[in-house]
Amino acid sequence: MLNILRRIVQEINASAHFNDALQILVKRVREAMATEATSIFLIDKLHKEYVLLATDGLNPAAVGKTHIKMGEGLVGLVGLRGEPINIDNAPAHPNFLAAPEVGEERYKAFLGVPIIYNRRLLGILVVQQQKKRRFDEAEEAFLVTMSAQLGGVIAHAEATGTISQLLNASVVQNPTKKDIVFPALPGAPGICIGTVVVVYPLADLDAIPHRKTKNIAAECKTFSKALRAARADIRKLKKRLAHLPEEERALFDAYLLILDSEHLENEVLTVIQSGLWAPTALRKVIHQHVQQFLEMDDDYLRERATDMRDLGRRILMHLQSAEHAHPSYPENTILVGEEVTASNLAEVPKGHLVGVVTKQGSSNSHVAIIARAMGIPIVIAVESLPISELEGHEIIVDALEGYIYVAPSAKLRNNYNKLITQQRAFTANLEQFRHLPAETLDGQNISLWVNTGLTSDATLALTAGAEGIGLYRTEIPFMDRDRFPAEEEQYLIYRQLLSAFAPRPVIMRTLDIGGDKNLTYFPVVEDNPFLGWRGIRITLDHPEIFLVQIRAMLRANIGLDNLQIMLPMISSLQEADDALRFIQQAFAELRAENLPVTMPPVGVMIEVPSAIYQAPALAHYVDFLSVGSNDLTQYLLAVDRNNARVANLYDALHPAVLHALVQIVEAAHNAGKRVSICGEMASDPIAVPLLLAMGFDALSMNATALPQIKWVIRHCHLQQAKELLGEVLLMQNTAAIRQRMQQALVDLGLGELVRRK
Ligand code: PEP
Ligand code: MG
Repeated sequence: MLNILRRIVQEINASAHFNDALQILVKRVREAMATEATSIFLIDKLHKEYVLLATDGLNPAAVGKTHIKMGEGLVGLVGLRGEPINIDNAPAHPNFLAAPEVGEERYKAFLGVPIIYNRRLLGILVVQQQKKRRFDEAEEAFLVTMSAQLGGVIAHAEATGTISQLLNASVVQNPTKKDIVFPALPGAPGICIGTVVVVYPLADLDAIPHRKTKNIAAECKTFSKALRAARADIRKLKKRLAHLPEEERALFDAYLLILDSEHLENEVLTVIQSGLWAPTALRKVIHQHVQQFLEMDDDYLRERATDMRDLGRRILMHLQSAEHAHPSYPENTILVGEEVTASNLAEVPKGHLVGVVTKQGSSNSHVAIIARAMGIPIVIAVESLPISELEGHEIIVDALEGYIYVAPSAKLRNNYNKLITQQRAFTANLEQFRHLPAETLDGQNISLWVNTGLTSDATLALTAGAEGIGLYRTEIPFMDRDRFPAEEEQYLIYRQLLSAFAPRPVIMRTLDIGGDKNLTYFPVVEDNPFLGWRGIRITLDHPEIFLVQIRAMLRANIGLDNLQIMLPMISSLQEADDALRFIQQAFAELRAENLPVTMPPVGVMIEVPSAIYQAPALAHYVDFLSVGSNDLTQYLLAVDRNNARVANLYDALHPAVLHALVQIVEAAHNAGKRVSICGEMASDPIAVPLLLAMGFDALSMNATALPQIKWVIRHCHLQQAKELLGEVLLMQNTAAIRQRMQQALVDLGLGELVRRK
């Protein structure tokens, strides 16, 4: 059964059109279950009804014409209950709807299973049989498993099919066309309009975007060259494996047969002639062949689909190594990709990037944090976005409400242009707060610091009215290179930052790689990277890296004395102790070299649950605590901060997080130490009154958010904020807490910020 399931899903995935996918589905399920009719009804959201979209067994003429109101008939009942319904005699059931044109009367046995994706009902999958009987448990389990796998496939195929049709019709020719909209999760706030550049992993055929070319001759030449190179590769591989028996090497013969036949080459060249980029043409042709193989009944031949894909990947690798893959970036570039990384952002020329859409990640991934620091909106796309189809198209990213609009109508574009203007005016209006203190209406001051890590944003942070740097993420300079930066290189970077801010304090965090921050030259591959070798765990295991970094920091601080060192991912006192020992060692070495270094304050981040309980002990041991609320939320709630599927569960306003924060502040203050918060929570206007009331000494946030947070603080009364905190700490429901805080902002006259969340 597992094999059959896998095959059906593979075939559906490989089909070019949504309709084909549905057709394959009903046919294959009917065959696999040896039943007499299989049908699929999908929901038409607009008309709130089910539509029969494919059938193998019912009257084919009824496809597209049979509509069932939600809740009506047996199909409606399955949807209503959200669980399988298995009946031996359907026509006798009170919910049975007689519809002679569909041809259902002759079928007695009925099994209907809902197709659900991300809690959303997409449709119903039905199998029927003439004989009066209940489908057995194994059959029911098969259909439920099939339907569970189908949810994602249908959501994707549906969107891909729809979009390709709609994109082909130009907006001008079709002015009444509805705007194509995809829901998305806001990652970094803002709105933008721009042109899509798809970023994709190399050597992944499926990820190749639909890109056109004007230089057909050059594309043909590049492709033929890549093909020749792939051919030479295979010959070499075959020779290298000459010691293996002939049958083991047969695969290479098969590859060569395909490559030598000129058939494949001609096919791809023909597609390029139609105006397509060589990798896109290759993807199309390989997919067609894969599809043909998958449709074959013979197991052996079906397996050849895998070989065809492998061959395609090999040719693609050569195409990409011809440095053919570098896109040019239009002025209003919106990067769209399965996984857009921090380095993808860095590749776009200055001033050209206006937005980001990524499928993997969440508002707490590092790419979102960096985008926020750059003031660039980012959304996390839900799975159905057909990325490869979007290349070169204009889209609107609304990272306030969480929408992506593809090929927007002129009317929609105008509306959004107005919103963008309003947004700019709002930001400009906040400028007046830049030089005013962050002081509540009843005179309580709180320090506002900035998070940084991109060297170029040091000046931005300065001008935004920051009192210091609360978090300098040192890993960014490490990520920029293809090797560990030497002590001197690090010294120069740190010196520049410390001098730019002196005498204001700069808290430098020691290297915090692992999790979603990897160095290409130091790969860490693990099943659970966020629970693995990360942060201080790596640097304590590699004193040669740690000591070099500490030496560079201490040297950079000579004569300035505004450095503070912070240790990430501390989960025990022992780790803090080990790290302090290395810091003292570096200090002693530099003193022995006659350098006038001073010992800076050293603090730890509280971002792991164990550290909450160790906070009193840690606070006695170090000079300050700083809460990394991004990780603290992730680890307390057991919600991967990068996983879009569970992103709705990630919320720093969860009662557990709020109670933990209260404990941490208390622990620090009982030990007479200061405590700050440097996670994204500190730049969330909704959370700020609570953080203020908890007694944090400083909030550290991205520079872009600073004027807005100052605005919030200057509208708050500390006493009122404390009452609000008392109220919220008694609440058990995260959504209710968020709602209460939104209302509180509206009451403070800051309703504008609520809409912006
Ligand atoms: C945090 O975890 O809150 C934090 C500030 O560190 P990072 O986001 O870099 O993991
Ligand atoms: Mg962290």
